[in-house]
Amino acid sequence: MITTTRRDFLRYCTLGALGVWLDPFRLGLLQEALANPAGPVVIWLKGSSCDGCSISLLNRISDSAPKTVTEVLTDSINLIYHGNVMSFAGEPAVAGMRQAYEKGNYILVVEGGIPTAFDGHACIAYSYKGVETTFQDAVKQYAARASHVVCAGTCASWGGIPAAGPNPTKVVGVKELTGITTVNIAGCPANPDWLLWPIVQLLTGGPIVLDSMGRPVDLYQNQGTIHDKCPRRTNGLPAATDFGQDGRCLRDLGCRGPTTFSKCENCWNGKAGSGHWCIGVNAPCQGCVEPTFPGTSPFYVAA
Ligand code: SF4
Ligand code: SF4
Repeated sequence: MITTTRRDFLRYCTLGALGVWLDPFRLGLLQEALANPAGPVVIWLKGSSCDGCSISLLNRISDSAPKTVTEVLTDSINLIYHGNVMSFAGEPAVAGMRQAYEKGNYILVVEGGIPTAFDGHACIAYSYKGVETTFQDAVKQYAARASHVVCAGTCASWGGIPAAGPNPTKVVGVKELTGITTVNIAGCPANPDWLLWPIVQLLTGGPIVLDSMGRPVDLYQNQGTIHDKCPRRTNGLPAATDFGQDGRCLRDLGCRGPTTFSKCENCWNGKAGSGHWCIGVNAPCQGCVEPTFPGTSPFYVAA
């Protein structure tokens, strides 16, 4: 049971942790508050990423419970390790994660792609007793004893932007690295509600049916394409020839809506139907939930 006072404190700590201004006393209190010991153990590893999927989740606001990620952290899961919102840092944090590894049966969340060039040394996950562990080795190790592996975002799923050409560090996604089936919550960033979806399904015993690319069909394939549902498809206006032309189809500006399966029109910025999704704010869909992203998008050209 979390009291209102403790919940408010945790909210304060969660925000503070992002700014790295918690003192040791508050870190200790956060350790006490930051978990439901009876909830499923979650280990969250981050590699070649911008932290955008973590920020997306931490910004979650909803009209229905859980209304914020704080409620998830305190009531639903036992978050052992996460680079932004864990109470310890350095070796004590790694030690907690190693203990969870010994027990196994945790949920591993991976955010970011995995560099495989240079024997993985382009990305170090952590250091423990003077020995560095590459992100590549950490993902292999912790995926092996996880009950489920969830990829938070397109980078962890298939490489995403870190794997865009020329990809000198040879970034790949988790399944390509490990061969293990992953639940791919694609998006750049992943939508916060979708990130919680597999956790809810696991807690409630709901099914997680995946498409051929490892995405839950309920979140992607079964939603149809962005183009199917786009209000600009049938309004009779000529196609846009430049940005800022309200209401016009964006296909000539590179819109990937026709080949993108997602429910974005109802999911972004906290409110269903707010209009604050990419096309709603005059931006062509970039197909960020697809394994082909970023591909040859005019917005992501290799230097
Ligand atoms: S803006 Fe994109 S998704 Fe909408 S109708 Fe045009 S091509 Fe289809
Ligand atoms: S509308 Fe397209 S680019 Fe925007 S979040 Fe959805 S899939 Fe990604």
